[in-house]
Amino acid sequence: MKSFKLFILMTLLTGLLAAPFRASAEDAKKSDKYPLKTCVVSDEKLGGDMGEPYVFTYKDKKIKDDSGREVRLCCKSCLKDFNKEPAKYIKKIDEAEKAAKAKK
Ligand SMILES: [Zn+2]
Repeated sequence: MKSFKLFILMTLLTGLLAAPFRASAEDAKKSDKYPLKTCVVSDEKLGGDMGEPYVFTYKDKKIKDDSGREVRLCCKSCLKDFNKEPAKYIKKIDEAEKAAKAKK
């Protein structure tokens, strides 16, 4: 009986803890400022047949207090290639950002 109560408690706690994460993920989708619809490494469409894109924040260690920037890859295996030449791929995102701003 004791373990059953614990189980209920754990279920409730996990639900409470998971809620804010879920909300922030939805907010990120709403304010979608990422300029590219493709993976910078493979040029594959993001969120297509490959499923959910792999999203992470890249921080340039050479820049002090770099707040980081969002990078979206079509899959996690592209991360290896990204890490080989991060500057090259960041530049791609920069250029896409500039192009998106120029349109407006
Ligand atoms: Zn990929």
